[in-house]
Amino acid sequence: MHFLSFLTVSLITLGSAFVLPGTTPQQTILPNHYLEANKRQESEAQSEIPFGVIITHCNIPGVVALTFDDGPYIYTGQILETLSQHGARATFFMNGVNKGNIDSFPELVQRAVNEGHQIASHTWGHASLDTLSYAEIIAQMTNLEEAFLRILGFYPSYMRAPYLMVTADVLAAMKALEYHIIGASIDTKDYENDDPEHSWRSFEKFRAELDGGGTIVLAHDTHRTTVEVLVDNMISEIEERGHEMVTIGECLGDPPEYWYRDGR
Ligand SMILES: [Zn+2]
Repeated sequence: MHFLSFLTVSLITLGSAFVLPGTTPQQTILPNHYLEANKRQESEAQSEIPFGVIITHCNIPGVVALTFDDGPYIYTGQILETLSQHGARATFFMNGVNKGNIDSFPELVQRAVNEGHQIASHTWGHASLDTLSYAEIIAQMTNLEEAFLRILGFYPSYMRAPYLMVTADVLAAMKALEYHIIGASIDTKDYENDDPEHSWRSFEKFRAELDGGGTIVLAHDTHRTTVEVLVDNMISEIEERGHEMVTIGECLGDPPEYWYRDGR
């Protein structure tokens, strides 16, 4: 919108400069252009991915979407390094307050965006949303939006419910707030196998569910073994199978301009 206003002002200025002496300025064509551009932008300003509907699989073939919940935390930076070494992109479903506090890690949030990853919402405080009223569910989302606005200047249009707990109220709230709800088709349960001796269990679950056609992988950047063992194993397996590691938005074919908003 700012760009269009700037463009219109520039065009009008330009138009005036070319008015011949003794003629009436013919600027009517310029507002028409402006209106056309405006109309076009309005009709395109809607993601084709539905809001308030649980999505568990990618739409495009040959890709895997690695996702990490519950951060940002002290291990998030190491995951970013590993992803970068492999040219892999991922999605981070972040909390306001969980093991860490998002305001303690603003540089990690910004860095993840800068390095091509997608940031999404995992609610402010990671409460199980079935225990909250409709108004409290809304607040869980909008409080985190405020934090993202402070840190990034925009906030995500994608979310994942804590514990994947989605009720009718959650669906309605996410539809009202225009959030895409992301589930998972590969659940590593990495939090149950958070030590190097048992991490293979999460890896085997990952492989089995990948064999079963799973494409959206759920893991956590708050578990040391996930960062130090599981992520490397998962990336090697995905590379061996020749799949590309992309963000949730990419894996759904949703253009990046729809991943975030800068206000309501
Ligand atoms: Zn979580």
